[in-house]
Amino acid sequence: MTLILLVIRGGYELSYPSKTPPGLIYDAVYMESILKHIKEITEYPHAVGQATHKVTGRYIERHIQQLNNPQVKINRHTTHYYNKHNRKAAALTNYIIQYPGQNPDASAVMLMAHYDAARFSGTGAADDAAGVAVALEVFKTFIQQNPTPKNKLMLLITDGEELGLLGAQAFIEEQLRYHNIGVIINLEARGSSGPAILLPESNSGTQGLIEAYQQAAVPMPVSSSLDAEIYAKMPNDSDVTPFKEQGINAFNLAFIDDHFNYHSQTDDLAHLSLNSVAHHLIQTKTLLNFLAEQDLNKLQSDHSLVYFSLPSQGLVSYSRNTSLIIFITVWLAWLLLLILFLRHKNYGFKSLLSGLKPLAVTGFFVFITNYILIAAIYTLIPGWQDILQGFPYAGHALINAQIVLSLIVFVLVYRRRQLTQQVGDVILSLGVWLTLVSLLTQALPGAGFLIIPALLALPLGFLSLYKPQWGQQMAPILLLLMLLPLGTLMINLPVALGIWMTPAAMLILVLMMAPMSLWVEYSSGSDKTAWLLFIPVIYSAWIVFEYRQFTPYQPLPTSINYLYDVDTDEAFLFHADKRRGGWLNALFTKPLTEQASEDFQQTYKKPLTTLVSSNLQAAYPATIKAQKPLSQAKHQRLSVTISAQPGTDILSIYTQQAMTLYSLAVGGRIHHFDEPMTLAAGYKLLEYHITDNPEITLQLAMSHDTRIDWQIQSHRTGLLSEFNLDERPDNQMPKAFIKSDLVTTVQTWTFSND
Ligand SMILES: [Zn+2]
Repeated sequence: MTLILLVIRGGYELSYPSKTPPGLIYDAVYMESILKHIKEITEYPHAVGQATHKVTGRYIERHIQQLNNPQVKINRHTTHYYNKHNRKAAALTNYIIQYPGQNPDASAVMLMAHYDAARFSGTGAADDAAGVAVALEVFKTFIQQNPTPKNKLMLLITDGEELGLLGAQAFIEEQLRYHNIGVIINLEARGSSGPAILLPESNSGTQGLIEAYQQAAVPMPVSSSLDAEIYAKMPNDSDVTPFKEQGINAFNLAFIDDHFNYHSQTDDLAHLSLNSVAHHLIQTKTLLNFLAEQDLNKLQSDHSLVYFSLPSQGLVSYSRNTSLIIFITVWLAWLLLLILFLRHKNYGFKSLLSGLKPLAVTGFFVFITNYILIAAIYTLIPGWQDILQGFPYAGHALINAQIVLSLIVFVLVYRRRQLTQQVGDVILSLGVWLTLVSLLTQALPGAGFLIIPALLALPLGFLSLYKPQWGQQMAPILLLLMLLPLGTLMINLPVALGIWMTPAAMLILVLMMAPMSLWVEYSSGSDKTAWLLFIPVIYSAWIVFEYRQFTPYQPLPTSINYLYDVDTDEAFLFHADKRRGGWLNALFTKPLTEQASEDFQQTYKKPLTTLVSSNLQAAYPATIKAQKPLSQAKHQRLSVTISAQPGTDILSIYTQQAMTLYSLAVGGRIHHFDEPMTLAAGYKLLEYHITDNPEITLQLAMSHDTRIDWQIQSHRTGLLSEFNLDERPDNQMPKAFIKSDLVTTVQTWTFSND
């Protein structure tokens, strides 16, 4: 069992660099230079709108200029962008860097990363300073090594990614026509450690991309067609998404482990894994070396492959047609095996069905015990519920405990099976696995490689039908062979989708192992080994004990916000934590009723768990001026200027009446909509992130009878200093995904033509 855990865990650890020295030099790229960039970029917060964000942009620009290479062209692309889907907008600056190729008609290989960080959290060391730093150094080193590449090279450092890919979308609308981009290598992070997983992104098919990734001989490739298909089904977007919609293919590299640091104050240099940065570097440099000389048209394909990686070995890939042939062959072989089994003198239908019970019992208990284990731990450490990313501190220790627990349940059930019964178990559980994988592959063709357990167990079935003893000796070897490529799935699934995926992942593990259950030796008599179950339980208790307290390195996420309504002269304090009030508990002694909280959420659109009314006073309303509307044939055109008070970070507008817009200009940049944009009452019209000028002018084209009834919210950071509240203890941090520590002033503004 230890060996099984080691293979699963080892497969994950071996899949990407370990013990990366800061002095690493990979193909002439210095890790020290990369780290220096990350350090400089993360010295100050750099979300869009923060004064120090500009410093980051200038740092990148200066660094490119220092190359002193007349062939390198740097273009500062400054614009305003409004994302009509999430209605966020800001002034932005993208950096477009170009280097000519030998062939003037050839398209460009473009490295891409974003230099803005998430607001209200950390300094974005992993997301995406590491990506920017690697892209800069790889680009720089490459042109020093190969001054005359065949293809053109580009480096696009985008802005406003965290607000909804604003920079990338603005680039596409305003700049793409001047460029011919063949392929993109995008560097991203959704955590602070783990392997940088490759997601091939294409509108048509992934075959060209995966074949290039293989031909480039990227060391330590981590990718699977299942990852790519699950990712495609999730609502996640990256800067690659709008390019993909334009038919431009991309290699999207992202590390996603230690998800709890994502968009948090803990996304800093201290939490960033050097191994992940090294994995970014190795893959990016190898890919660029290869792609710079390739005909990029070859990356375009209409087909997708089935592929998976063998930890630290390489990528195995084959076509979907081959996958189909494998499935048909395996099914036919299994049917033959089934017939032979049923006609065998020692076996029969009854002995086949008897295998259902142990399989069902194992599956049931593995799922239930793992579910209870997580639920128990979340109850014992309630603060973990405030980690909104879904993967708690010590998540990996928990996964290890769950693997051990599942293996013990497996052994306890299967050790009651005699060798003759086990032969039937192989055939039955093989059939169950085949059925499940065939159904899954219908929905996700990329899951096709999950047939591996069946491929390995088939010969085992034939052999043990006639020589059960031989089968018994072969089973553990096959099991380990199977876990080599598939074992990491048990870690990757909860790392990618959250710790609550582990009961499902463990269920998959035991179903996958069941066709090879012959290795479990039969034991009659009472179960004296049941005490083994206590091992993972004790281990889990130790996890709880170790992690029960939050530390500055692994802090408790907490939130607090203040809202003042100018019209009603009411003030509120609220937070969105499971534990009431965090360190400011004293302020939250009289929570308002549930009804009041619901009304509040309805009115002001704020997530909260506890609401109290407050006697603190702070108001920073904006001044709003509208020009007399201009009547046009189809609509009226209204120009509204909102002047926020200095120090305001974000202006939000919610429309309290349904309204339809034909076009909207934000900061002078007009956005025409293909279809008129209709917003229902209560919907957000705009979330404007102020960069320099706290005055924003909107020009709206709307129907003649539209009356404006807006709720305008002015947000500013610095709640604690505003009211002289106690500083947050150093083992707590502002909660990710929730705009915390804000002073919000709410006002209503109405306007009509008559
Ligand atoms: Zn990012």
